[in-house]
Amino acid sequence: MYFAALMRPTEDSYLHKGLRKQLVDGIRQKGITDEKVLTAINTIPRHFFLDSAFDKVAYEDRAFPIGEGQTISQPYTVAYQSQLLDVKPFEKILEIGTGSAYQATVLAELRATVYTIERQKNLFESNRAFSYLKKYPNIKFFYGDGYEGLPTYAPFDKIIITAAAPDIPQKLIDQLKVGGMMVIPVGSGDVQQMRRIVKQENGAVKEELFDNFSFVPMLGGKK
Ligand code: SAH
Repeated sequence: MYFAALMRPTEDSYLHKGLRKQLVDGIRQKGITDEKVLTAINTIPRHFFLDSAFDKVAYEDRAFPIGEGQTISQPYTVAYQSQLLDVKPFEKILEIGTGSAYQATVLAELRATVYTIERQKNLFESNRAFSYLKKYPNIKFFYGDGYEGLPTYAPFDKIIITAAAPDIPQKLIDQLKVGGMMVIPVGSGDVQQMRRIVKQENGAVKEELFDNFSFVPMLGGKK
């Protein structure tokens, strides 16, 4: 599937809304407790972020292809990372790996100001043409290499990485405020372990370990 040819649905029907509510119930049963995160997922028409070919399955708790060999993350994973990030209104959040922009939209529904970077030009351009995103002036889109972060806009309250990182990039720790938090899936194999780090006053990080997930790799450079 070539992204430029993506046909997005534009109608949010009662059927979609009903399926979305079922998805939220499922995610709650899997252990997500943050009601603000669950409300965001209940609000956002996930099928708008996919080709209309996925209309019937868009509310299954699965990842789906979005073109360029990339995927929209599984809703449970999006909810899990969003919950760990403990988003507060007006926080400045850096996201690495815009992809479909679904995760960015969840953060925007939580009233953060989101700076999101994508390394694939076609995905970046596709989001520029995606009219639903006009609803979220609090998301700023950047084309670039997430390993570099966004030094011009640093420091950030929070950083979220939505691709598998072989380790925690020091340049991104540098762009975090003291007391700031990063949620990142770490590992270079098929499975990564979710980690949450908090930056200390001396620049060191405190780390907590969470469940295993499977992300597409965080790659260097632009494409
Ligand atoms: N947050 C996305 C998940 C997309 S999958 C969503 O909600 O749909 C991960 C994305 O990270 C892919 O689009 C991939 O191209 C991008 N990516 C991988 N390495 C990157 C890097 N170094 N900088 C920016 N984006 C990167």
